[in-house]
Amino acid sequence: MQKTFDHFQASLLYCNQCRRAMPVRERLLLVLPDGEIYDYLCQQCGSSVGSKTARTTAQGGLVIP
Ligand SMILES: [Zn+2]
Repeated sequence: MQKTFDHFQASLLYCNQCRRAMPVRERLLLVLPDGEIYDYLCQQCGSSVGSKTARTTAQGGLVIP
C-alpha cells in the first residue's frame, strides 16, 4: 500500500531561528485587489520563514464595490 503526500498540509521551510527545516503554517497576510499575500510562520518559534503571493483570477467571484 502506498501513501501519497498531502500537498495542502504543512510543508517544510528552512527557519533561520531554528537553523533547520521546520513545518510551517500558512497565514493570510494581505489581501490585494488582484491577489493575496500569504506569510509562512515556523510552527516551532513563530518567526516568518517566507511568503507567497497568490493571484486571484479575473473570474474569482470576488467583487469589491
Ligand atoms: Zn523556527
